[in-house]
Amino acid sequence: MKTYLLLFQCDTCHKPTIEGYCIDDGAEHYCSDKCLHEQMTDEEFQEMSGEDGTSYISNWYEDSMTYKSF
Ligand SMILES: [Zn+2]
Repeated sequence: MKTYLLLFQCDTCHKPTIEGYCIDDGAEHYCSDKCLHEQMTDEEFQEMSGEDGTSYISNWYEDSMTYKSF
């Protein structure tokens, strides 16, 4: 079985990340709380990640892969 790892680049520190925050259905990614908070507060994130939200905490390991590699 092959394992694919999808790396996204953190929009704050520009390091590749495999888990973290996905903002606006993938428009932005942040690798950690620290990087998220450079861009928005927890409250803003909560608002964006509500029931109809497009933002969430996730990872991009193979078994939860929902994104295509870029
Ligand atoms: Zn980061």
